[in-house]
Amino acid sequence: MEEQVQALQAALTDLGSGSLVVVTGAGISQASGIPTFRGSDPEAVWRQSDVTLATFDYFRRDPVGQWEWYLKRFEAVAAAQPNPAHLALVELERWHSERAGSFCLVTQNIDTLHEEAGSSKMIKIHGTSDRLRCSQVGCRYGSPAGSLASIDVSFEEFVASPSKQTLPLCPECSSILRAHVLFFDEYYGEHEDYRFSEADEAADTADLMLFVGTSFSVGITDIFLRAGILKRIPMFSIDPGGHRSSPWPDLELLPSPAEELLPEVCHRLTAHREMTSAAEPRR
Ligand SMILES: [Zn+2]
Repeated sequence: MEEQVQALQAALTDLGSGSLVVVTGAGISQASGIPTFRGSDPEAVWRQSDVTLATFDYFRRDPVGQWEWYLKRFEAVAAAQPNPAHLALVELERWHSERAGSFCLVTQNIDTLHEEAGSSKMIKIHGTSDRLRCSQVGCRYGSPAGSLASIDVSFEEFVASPSKQTLPLCPECSSILRAHVLFFDEYYGEHEDYRFSEADEAADTADLMLFVGTSFSVGITDIFLRAGILKRIPMFSIDPGGHRSSPWPDLELLPSPAEELLPEVCHRLTAHREMTSAAEPRR
């Protein structure tokens, strides 16, 4: 792991006040006990055949079945705690911001572990598990800008007896509520909370990209990779279970667990900062 730590530390140090973009996927939350979506871990919940479950089409056909599935998943997500990789990214944001560098974290995860850890400059490109929204487009609680906090909606009756009649309804228009997540058959532009144009701009202006725990199987990573390759900026991918050799030019693979590699890199970056500031002459 030592070589990987040094490579990432050197690249981050060389970045100066350039723009740092971190893209995280399900792999970063695995150490917190959340199964990945399409990873090779035995618990991976989304086998290819299950992808149909997370579609708007499925929601329309069987909202009861979809909600039963999502509630189970959201429950697992709510019980999880941030791991050292989430915490290290908070430290990295602070360290880079202190150098006046711009920082943007784009996460594909719908869990709330980055926020709980303390990340602030963050885009949740696939939505979030702690909110839901009205399925009626144009409703104040629906697309393109509306949503509701999950905590304000009770699923008690539904959980006790799952049926269409017990599903919670929109307080404004009485339509069925849906998960505030991007389904596989939907587009990033369908809700303002996905902040797609901001993410797209971050991809275009990045000077260094760091991918953490992403399997490069969803559209958003393509956008970032393409932008990075075009600009020929340094790019790293931390993923112990990922590709053996880099399928993309300029993407350096760091096959270590993020929860070990990232804290070590941050520890050295901050230790180095303290050493250099201590060495500065006093006025
Ligand atoms: Zn509504």
